[in-house]
Amino acid sequence: MKLPESQQCGEECPKCGENMRNHGKREKHIITLLGECKFSRNYYECVSCENENTGNREHAVPNDEILGVAGTKFTETVKRVTAQIAASDSFFDTSANLKMLCGINVSAKE
Ligand SMILES: [Zn+2]
Repeated sequence: MKLPESQQCGEECPKCGENMRNHGKREKHIITLLGECKFSRNYYECVSCENENTGNREHAVPNDEILGVAGTKFTETVKRVTAQIAASDSFFDTSANLKMLCGINVSAKE
């Protein structure tokens, strides 16, 4: 999967507003309704801010936001389908239905 070049450069730190440094491409696995796939996207870190909770540099992965997979491996469509099936079934039925309909494995902790 390749995103437009215009989406892949220039990122400001959400905390201090400084330009973030591009740390190159990092791969991510995501789960879509068509199955699992992986893609590379730019990973940015702030040169001056540290995250108070983790002690790591503040970072941004703007293409994850664009694709709706920031902090998760499931696309918005998978989340919507899961929620819709779960609303009428037990977890066991939901998991079995997702496997049967989409070939997607979802565990209870996800
Ligand atoms: Zn910063």
